[in-house]
Amino acid sequence: MRRQNPDTDDDTQPIMVPRSERLLAPASAERGRRLRKHLVKALRALRVMKAPTAAAPPPPADLGAFVARVTQTACAMCNGWCCKGGGDHAYLDEQTLARVRAEQPDLDARAVLMLYVSRLPPAGYQGSCVFHGEQGCTLPRSLRSDVCNAYFCAGLDAFITGEDFTTPAVVLAGEGGRMRTSRVLKP
Ligand code: SF4
Ligand code: SF4
Repeated sequence: MRRQNPDTDDDTQPIMVPRSERLLAPASAERGRRLRKHLVKALRALRVMKAPTAAAPPPPADLGAFVARVTQTACAMCNGWCCKGGGDHAYLDEQTLARVRAEQPDLDARAVLMLYVSRLPPAGYQGSCVFHGEQGCTLPRSLRSDVCNAYFCAGLDAFITGEDFTTPAVVLAGEGGRMRTSRVLKP
């Protein structure tokens, strides 16, 4: 059933997300060093894991083109409200790295490390995850932790669990006079 969008006065489905006001700052070498240290530790833990390929979690679910576009638009407009907890570790652990290595068995530990380091954005949001760049997360879902892949805020969760993937959507990020509205996203 189509819903009336009270903010745009049409029958698009409204997707309400928050909006962070953090500021952009050039990437810090210190943060890059902390990420490397964290990854080296996780890669060492992976080395002593029993049967890492069997223990690797399954690849992230395919969201489908429309859901992927809506979530990407929402997360970029929101400026990554929920990414602050990512710090300099991005929730990456040996389980995630086991999954990455299982999907790309030709990569050795150093290549996996470089896969992540090469994705560090040139500028990031202060107080947010080290991979949180101007356009949102710089990691593809295949490289993100399961924590990141599984989490959706209330607005995106309502959209995904509502399973209405045929009605166009409009993202509304923030509140009051600071609210930003996306263009109409069509399935
Ligand atoms: S999941 Fe929600 S809160 Fe987190 S970045 Fe995306 S829109 Fe923002
Ligand atoms: S890895 Fe990406 S999705 Fe996860 S906390 Fe960092 S910026 Fe957010």
